[in-house]
Amino acid sequence: MQTIATLFREAVNDAGDAPFLTLADGTSISYADAWARTTALAARFRALGVKDGDRIAIHAEKSPDALFVYLAAQRVGAVFLPLNTAYTADELEYFLADATPALFICRPQDETALAALCSRIGLPCCKSLGTAGDGTLCDGLNAAAPEDFTDASRGPDDLAAILYTSGTTGRSKGAMLTNANLVSNGLTLRDYWRFTREDVLLHALPIFHTHGLFVATNTILAARATMIFLPKLDVPSMLDLMAQATTMMGVPTFYTRLLDDPRFTRDVAAHMRLFISGSAPLSADVHREFSERTGHAILERYGMTETNMITSNPYDGARVPGSVGFPLPGVSVRIADPETGAELPQGEIGGIEVKGPNVFVGYWQMPEKTKQEFRADGFFITGDLGRVDENGYVHIVGRSKDLIISGGFNVYPAEVEALLDELPGIAESAVIAVPHRDFGEAVVAVVQGRDSSLTEEAIIAAIADKLARFKQPKRVFFVSELPRNAMGKIQKAQLREQFAATFA
Ligand code: AMP
Repeated sequence: MQTIATLFREAVNDAGDAPFLTLADGTSISYADAWARTTALAARFRALGVKDGDRIAIHAEKSPDALFVYLAAQRVGAVFLPLNTAYTADELEYFLADATPALFICRPQDETALAALCSRIGLPCCKSLGTAGDGTLCDGLNAAAPEDFTDASRGPDDLAAILYTSGTTGRSKGAMLTNANLVSNGLTLRDYWRFTREDVLLHALPIFHTHGLFVATNTILAARATMIFLPKLDVPSMLDLMAQATTMMGVPTFYTRLLDDPRFTRDVAAHMRLFISGSAPLSADVHREFSERTGHAILERYGMTETNMITSNPYDGARVPGSVGFPLPGVSVRIADPETGAELPQGEIGGIEVKGPNVFVGYWQMPEKTKQEFRADGFFITGDLGRVDENGYVHIVGRSKDLIISGGFNVYPAEVEALLDELPGIAESAVIAVPHRDFGEAVVAVVQGRDSSLTEEAIIAAIADKLARFKQPKRVFFVSELPRNAMGKIQKAQLREQFAATFA
């Protein structure tokens, strides 16, 4: 069994001068170039004191170098820890104090402030990385790259990465992923989705999340294919570049944005062989509209940070709108009674549980939490609710964990509510998801106990620098009483109904 570092090395040996990344300006970075750059970075990491098993955390804009930090971290035997670029300094402090990385890499413009934060919490090293090979991480980089750099020796069961998920109680959990978790999923997806070295993936996803990072990069490495690497979702560039691509991975927002643009036609998509969607539910309407416009049936798949990819619609055979397809080869999925974990008869709705080489090994420094989320027989409790239809397709029907997914990003209401409840004049708040064509779901807050001086704008402004933008409520509504059940619990279902048409 390989590690990400050996998968990368074999890809470089095989693909050599073939392009690994191409950029919007036409620049091409070959597999061999990527190897050289990661040698320089890995040597730099070692010189900065990073040792086997240490964490390297990064909070930097997407760029080829930011991706190379992932691969160089593997070569030096470190655990890669990417952080959502939308996180504020307050949020970063929690992650850094929890993960205690040996090296923290931030944006150049944040370096002074975040280096001070690192010294305050006792972290040894803070460097910066810009998008053009700049930043203090790159100081003297090429000169520091020895010809004879030797990769650390790591095995399949060693950790390759920690990705933080949002926590239902406001505390994020670090999902620990081993090399075997990542490599097995990358190889499976390459085969299931028929990726070959002829493929060119249009990559406009962020690389701090499992989708753009692992699903995309590891599958591409396994296939020795190429990625057109765009800084972010950018419809005009994607329309321009689609003729050079064969595949795209996107969150549902990508597909609604493409459809919103009349220039997106069957001709523009003619060179593509596969469009993949995931991270949030793709509406069946969007699926159908996309098929009508382009002739392509979007292939929807399902996964999560903790488990990598779990199910996928088939490459050949019907890609059913509103379904996430079949369990991937080697992955076991069952629909179970959420209370007992007992498997339910086919067709019934229950908790989705999963077991396989793709499933993470636990939450960083949270053994109790880890234990709670696994059954005794090793199945992981995803927190999603679903059913399997008579043809074996999995359908997700809801989330038992009350998660909001806005534009592909997870928002846990509890975290936003806690901040709102601290504001003077707010007695209690309820944060809910309401349907939004562009984001899938939009975050909306309903607050009780209005102080007459409190306005929607003032509330949004008061929490703006405490929360990443995607978590901030898009609207705030005031009510005299929040609806509650006999146990005093706020009835969110009722609120969702009441405010469902907010963005209609
Ligand atoms: P994350 O860990 O950020 O990838 O979020 C994982 C969650 O996203 C899952 O537990 C699901 O609730 C949701 N999710 C991922 N893919 C899909 C999909 N295709 N359809 C519906 N929900 C999805």
